[in-house]
Amino acid sequence: MLDSTVSLLNALQSGDVTAQDLVQQTIAAIEASQPTINAFTHVAGDSAMAAAERVDADRKAGRTLGPLAGLPVAIKDVLCTSDMPTTCSSEMLRGFVPPYNATVVSKLTAAGAIVIGKTNMDEFAMGASTETSAMGVTRNPWDEARTPGGSSGGAAAAVACGAVSLSIGTDTGGSIRQPAAFCGITGLKPTYGRCSRYGLVAFASSLDQAGPMGWSVDDVAIGLQAMAGYDPADSTSVDHPVPDYRAVLQSTDLRGLKIGVLRDSINQDGVSDAVRRSVEDAERVFQELGAEIVEISLQHSPYWVPTYYVIAPCEASSNLSRFDGAHYGHRAMRAADAVDEGEGVMGPLETMYRTSRAAGFGSEVKRRIIVGTYALSAGYYDAYYNQALKVRRLIRGDYDAAFDQADLLLGPVTPSPAFRLGENVDDPIAMYLCDLFTVGANLAGVPAISLPGGLDDQGLPVGIQLQGPVMEESRLLFAGGAFQSVTDHHRLRPSNVRV
Ligand code: GLN
Repeated sequence: MLDSTVSLLNALQSGDVTAQDLVQQTIAAIEASQPTINAFTHVAGDSAMAAAERVDADRKAGRTLGPLAGLPVAIKDVLCTSDMPTTCSSEMLRGFVPPYNATVVSKLTAAGAIVIGKTNMDEFAMGASTETSAMGVTRNPWDEARTPGGSSGGAAAAVACGAVSLSIGTDTGGSIRQPAAFCGITGLKPTYGRCSRYGLVAFASSLDQAGPMGWSVDDVAIGLQAMAGYDPADSTSVDHPVPDYRAVLQSTDLRGLKIGVLRDSINQDGVSDAVRRSVEDAERVFQELGAEIVEISLQHSPYWVPTYYVIAPCEASSNLSRFDGAHYGHRAMRAADAVDEGEGVMGPLETMYRTSRAAGFGSEVKRRIIVGTYALSAGYYDAYYNQALKVRRLIRGDYDAAFDQADLLLGPVTPSPAFRLGENVDDPIAMYLCDLFTVGANLAGVPAISLPGGLDDQGLPVGIQLQGPVMEESRLLFAGGAFQSVTDHHRLRPSNVRV
């Protein structure tokens, strides 16, 4: 669907297209793209058609319909769905069908959306390229030799290849914003607590958030409207009213808005010319729209990546302990599969745990579990985990101070556009450095949006990032909407056709 979410919803409402037609077209588009792009781990067939039939019947009968009635939506395979598998792109969960839906999934379907399939991702959302998936790599629709980014690479590619207009990703350290930037689409990471994490398979519980991905700010505003809100089933979700997110898109007058430019990040070594140019161009656009530009520096930003790569693996090592072949996940069937580690005889239970976890997890997940277990161990807890928590507090303090001086922060999403598949797989540090500009928002819990910022000289998309104060998603959407009202980067498509 090269169409926007708004035009699809209009077509459904006016009867120009039925939900059943749209579901059929979407499934056909997914199937056509799968052999090359591989954005999906599962495509819903009968359940999506049955849901579409119900929407069409309700519409015909004049019953009240939800705001997303009949709209196909793709869901990252880390969010639980009770009628289709939820694998986290891991051997550990291959074929696992959860007994319940994630709250954000239930909210979307209650609004009338139709879950059209589950999208590929880095295993357990650990990665920045979708290459750690056990379900094969996803390719970038702009250049199939390149990564779509990660970990929500499938969700981004599903939009960019024209299969869906809206997908749901999750972002622990950049996993919505970085793939959105690499695939030329818009992606929003909400405030920590804005959307329920119930049914989101936990990677790092204090950082994880689900959020919408689509072509434009309007698309993601529609998605967020359906997903946001308090959920008693998630004690970290915030009981804060959900505003009308599209209301702010009426105005494009940014007079009175102060945008703080993160000059240090733009000029940092390793930032490509195209990225620098896009952010500087955006700065001029915001100025023309009436915003006042100020300079902001987030003092502890050099510590973002090291802090994140202590806290996230610590939480992961704890969260992933449930996958032991008994409580959850892949169980190795033969103790004889055990690797002889020269540690003498293991009891059958321990052998089962060891062989199940050894076979079920891929190497990046194992690396995180080992790092996290080490950093949480008695001798190192204070030196690493506690220290990281203290630095995290300082990072949050930087954001609080910045938002005393500016309403929003503008900077890059990634140091460079999409890299080649295989380029960083053997170099975890290079892969972790993709998160240089994104993990700050997760550590501080603030909302952030990635907007298409144009193409580099090879025709690859480049993103720009706006970050806002806690619970100010509307402000991000307002500024992002104004930006998209005078630019057409978000209208560019992989074939470079403007629609
Ligand atoms: N690239 C980061 C990581 O590997 C972020 C992942 C995410 O946001 N899920 O941890």
